[in-house]
Amino acid sequence: MALHETKKSSEFDDLFDKSGAQKPLSKFEIPEKESDPKTMYQLIKDELMLDGNSRQNLATFCQTFAEEEVHKLMDDCLDKNMIDKDEYPQTAEIENRCVNMIASLWHAKESEATGTSTTGSSEACMLGGMAMKWRWRNARKAAGKPYDKPNLVCGPVQVCWHKFARYWDVELREIPMATGEKQNRYVSNAEEVLKLCDENTIGVVQTLGITFTGQYEPILEVAEALDKLEKSKGIDIPLHIDAASGGFLAPFCAPELLWDFRIPRVKSISSSGHKFGLAPLGCGWVIWGNKKDLPEDLIFNVNYLGGNMPTFAINFSRPGGQIVCQYYNLLRLGKEGYTKVQQGCYDVGKFFAKAIKDFGIFELVYDSNPHEGIPAVTWKLKKDATYEGKKVEFDLYQLSDVLRERGWLLPAYSLPANCQEIIVQRVLIRHGCSYDLMELLLKDIKRSIHKLQHIKITKIDDGCTCNSCCSKGSFNHS
Ligand SMILES: *Cc1c(COP(=O)(O)O)cnc(C)c1O
Repeated sequence: MALHETKKSSEFDDLFDKSGAQKPLSKFEIPEKESDPKTMYQLIKDELMLDGNSRQNLATFCQTFAEEEVHKLMDDCLDKNMIDKDEYPQTAEIENRCVNMIASLWHAKESEATGTSTTGSSEACMLGGMAMKWRWRNARKAAGKPYDKPNLVCGPVQVCWHKFARYWDVELREIPMATGEKQNRYVSNAEEVLKLCDENTIGVVQTLGITFTGQYEPILEVAEALDKLEKSKGIDIPLHIDAASGGFLAPFCAPELLWDFRIPRVKSISSSGHKFGLAPLGCGWVIWGNKKDLPEDLIFNVNYLGGNMPTFAINFSRPGGQIVCQYYNLLRLGKEGYTKVQQGCYDVGKFFAKAIKDFGIFELVYDSNPHEGIPAVTWKLKKDATYEGKKVEFDLYQLSDVLRERGWLLPAYSLPANCQEIIVQRVLIRHGCSYDLMELLLKDIKRSIHKLQHIKITKIDDGCTCNSCCSKGSFNHS
């Protein structure tokens, strides 16, 4: 007889053979019984494998790389609610320091600026938009004029401004893109802005890095046109800058570019901390260059958390870790580090753009230029392109599909009005997009082009509008 007893099978310790793992996970009802935490963790983690690898997602503007210290700080802050400013006064203090640093980065005067963290640019834009609407309405009321038909003038904006307009009952006057003989115009310009402005315009939004191509809008030119409008017609229209991406790029890589509070007409600026601010997901900022531009009646003072705290936010409870990690990055990188990281992205973008051009079948729309836009490369398929002597028959949607086989996410999409017929593909170059990673991607693009040229691809989802076999039902487009 062996000296040791063999384990009984019921004691056999396998993660995948425990209660909870012996049949598929519950999908509709909360299970009656509890389960082993390690088993549940493993099963959920396994399911998440199918989400793919975020580092290969070149569609997103959001950060997908974080230092170990950021992971640690996020864990340390798991239980901190940033709204409880009395219970977590240091988190509140850190938020204030970030507001000060970012306001200063955007050239606000120290004693005059105010601002807040948000969940991202969307909330930041809502707050900026509300301040514009309230200011306009107060001024109209004071002048005894009607205030029932507010409008907002903008170039091709991110979907959050469409939401703002609908949720807050403001008419959105969006300047369409235009095709030209020599060059297409993918951003707004002063002339078009002026055509749409009137006494009911609550503000003009200019985007520092438009979603569709990555380009900056001509902010200074638009500001000067609005100055002239005020002189000639007496209509004073403020500018809000949606600097979701550009707010943490231009100050480091194009410091001479005038787009921020150095232009007096710019009253508020919003940005995503979790994009090029390098904070983890769930962090945005909105700053007013002067406190007086944030109407008092938008600010709530709550006293039931102990202390009397002014807040201007759409959410109440919100995690504090993202803000703490934003502060970590501002301190850890400093201006020197941010410049290195962002310039590195532009450089890799240039390298990538050249390689895209060298394929010979693509035409660059935008090529990662720090004075013109964000670190992104956007291209379209050339008309009548041929590859290795053979006519190119595939489109960018098919190229996008084939690249997915290797885990790469490179969206292909049509531009908005009036360039709907133009299909482009875009790559965002973010912290962590190394030359090596981009070389691997280029090899896979080459392989995909070969495949598409030599195999007859038929689209399986043509004409299908269901939600289960294709993603056409998805509304989360950009
Ligand atoms: C990403 C983006 C937004 C929305 O930002 P979130 O942080 O995702 O809410 C708004 N405007 C522009 C220009 C953007 O690029």
